[in-house]
Amino acid sequence: MKYLVVLAVVLFFVMLIAVRYRKQITAAIQVARMIKDAGKSAKEIPQASIRRDPMAAAPLVKCSGCSTWVPEDRAKRMRTGDFFCSDECMRTGAKAI
Ligand SMILES: [Zn+2]
Repeated sequence: MKYLVVLAVVLFFVMLIAVRYRKQITAAIQVARMIKDAGKSAKEIPQASIRRDPMAAAPLVKCSGCSTWVPEDRAKRMRTGDFFCSDECMRTGAKAI
């Protein structure tokens, strides 16, 4: 029976606090929701940027003719291992070597 009285008193105080700090509790819930949403959007951003930039997967190689950095899959490779950005650079670069 003693515990029931203690429980009733505790419940009374909890209700009193809830009524008194209603605004703060509502604000705290809103802040918690904002943090939850921010976490969700933060997870979505990196995935979107990975999808948006497929060129990042291709490593860059330096053109031996004009020293321009081009993606490896678009560069022309010589038998010597030199890379060129275009046929023109390949011709001029081959002459220079
Ligand atoms: Zn070039």
